[in-house]
Amino acid sequence: MKVIIVGGVAGGASCAARLRRLEEKAEIIMVERGPYVSYANCGLPYHIGGVIEKESSLLVASERTFREQFAVDCRTGCEAIKISADKKTVELRNVATGEVTTESYDKLVLSPGAPSIHPPLPGIDFPGIFQVRTVPDARAIREWIEKGSLFLSGMHSYSGFQTVRPKTRAVVIGGGFIGLETAENLIHRGFDVTLVEMGDQILAPLDLEMARIVEGYVEKHGIRLALNDGVAGFQQASNDTLAVLTKSGKSYPADIVILALGVRPDTTLAKTAGLEIGKRGGIRVDEQMRTSNQDIFAVGDAVEVKDFVTGEWSLIALAGPANRQGRIAADVIAGRESRFRGSQGTSIIGLFGAAAAWMGASEKTLNRIGDKDYEKIYLYPNSHAGYYPGARPIAMKVLFRKSDGRLLGAQALGEDNVDKRISALAMALQMGATIYDLEEAELCYAPQFGSAKDPVNFAGMVAADIIRGDMPLSHWKTAKAGFLLDVREPAELAVESVPEAVHIPIGQLRARLAELPRDREIHVICRSGQRAYIATRMLLQKGFKAKTVSGGMLSLAHNHLLES
Ligand SMILES: Cc1cc2nc3c(=O)[nH]c(=O)nc-3n(C[C@H](O)[C@H](O)[C@H](O)COP(=O)(O)OP(=O)(O)OC[C@H]3O[C@@H](n4cnc5c(N)ncnc54)[C@H](O)[C@@H]3O)c2cc1C
Repeated sequence: MKVIIVGGVAGGASCAARLRRLEEKAEIIMVERGPYVSYANCGLPYHIGGVIEKESSLLVASERTFREQFAVDCRTGCEAIKISADKKTVELRNVATGEVTTESYDKLVLSPGAPSIHPPLPGIDFPGIFQVRTVPDARAIREWIEKGSLFLSGMHSYSGFQTVRPKTRAVVIGGGFIGLETAENLIHRGFDVTLVEMGDQILAPLDLEMARIVEGYVEKHGIRLALNDGVAGFQQASNDTLAVLTKSGKSYPADIVILALGVRPDTTLAKTAGLEIGKRGGIRVDEQMRTSNQDIFAVGDAVEVKDFVTGEWSLIALAGPANRQGRIAADVIAGRESRFRGSQGTSIIGLFGAAAAWMGASEKTLNRIGDKDYEKIYLYPNSHAGYYPGARPIAMKVLFRKSDGRLLGAQALGEDNVDKRISALAMALQMGATIYDLEEAELCYAPQFGSAKDPVNFAGMVAADIIRGDMPLSHWKTAKAGFLLDVREPAELAVESVPEAVHIPIGQLRARLAELPRDREIHVICRSGQRAYIATRMLLQKGFKAKTVSGGMLSLAHNHLLES
């Protein structure tokens, strides 16, 4: 059997290695247009920032490794330019010489990825404007940064004692994870960074109120955000600098510009074979990564996958799915029955020591598809036992089905151990878990790592209380129009308060029930929801119509949570 794999990075390289482990006799050719195979594009922003100092650290496995360890005919600088599906051949072009040869295949795997969006804006190709996708991209940025004009560029003024150099100005365009990671790394390099984002928030998969927390946090660390403004073009100024022009008419001066406008599936080659392309613009594949042609497979950023929660076709440009899909394609080619389960978009981004992570459906996705059978909770548990030093709050939003308690999605932000909570929830979601399963999950606990009731358990317990009717829930939007009861201590009101709320500290509540209406819904608030829950239980059993406001004061204005 002769297998040709196009694209030698995440999906392609994992397919090649897996196929060799399963099929010692197969002839495997892996072609890669660029100079490297199997490199860590996820590490590129950190190489730009100098966290990963050596370029060679990004090269996970070399062409030589594939040749020697895996007996894969690995060809870099080799581009697949045309597939003849009827003849089962691929035309390959040597990038250096332009020579074109033709190779036949029994099975073909496409893993061409998703190049960065590069719109035809005026001036977009000016020197000093970069993208971050490949090792040569990162190298070019580092060279630009380190060349004299941007790095210690001399004495802008001289006072006799010191030199004062204005900060080098970077404008990053796009508030997705590549833009933000690069912006953070440029801040670490001492740049003055402005991030321009067309949408009304950064990190589009997050719900707006969760994204606001991240926005406050990155602004505190020096990234200047310009939201709701699209880039319109670029101008070159006389002194070797650029101006980024936006649709709102603003002009941002820049010494360097990073384009991070998102990615688009590369379907150029797939189209030469007449393969089906889905509505989202990716190559359409089945659960076994087969395209509309039985002998051609496609994996990674270039394909459309089923969203695990909504069942919709979606584009998920992440390394984990790409690697797993490459492995599945290899399994299927080798005669195994592996299947891709769909993607839930489990993601994380680290920013200035904190992390934002999410998985499954967001509330805005559920609203977009008209799904009303969901409830959401906000909670702010400590990252580990509060009595052990170093515990930090985690802001969590968890979505679940009202009718059966099935977990639908979660978002979490914080400075400690956010990843393990979202990873645990992601695993639970993939297994079809309900919030009752989260209640019962048995997770690691010692005080420095978690709590006897881990945030994952805690989310399950709160959600289950709601579904069982033990804790009727309300949210600020409706609560503010109703009767608000604040059960916090007087000292807390001095920090923040809601003027229209009636204040009865929880310790006095039993004695002051006569002050509360029996004919109206009472929305109970405290700082995070915990005391409000205790008060709600008391009031319900005394015959009042009480509801707990999810997340309490923290969910009202939690955008400064990580600054405390
Ligand atoms: C800066 C950056 C940071 C990232 N960080 C993360 C992260 O933290 N976590 C995460 O999950 N994901 C991250 N990703 C995304 C992740 O890298 C991708 O999802 C993953 O690499 C996709 O794998 P792939 O095989 O589909 O495509 P790629 O890894 O992009 O590989 C495709 C390769 O195919 C080659 N190719 C294309 N067409 C041809 C052709 N016709 N002939 C020959 N070769 C061709 C390309 O040159 C390219 O090298 C990041 C991506 C970038 C760019």
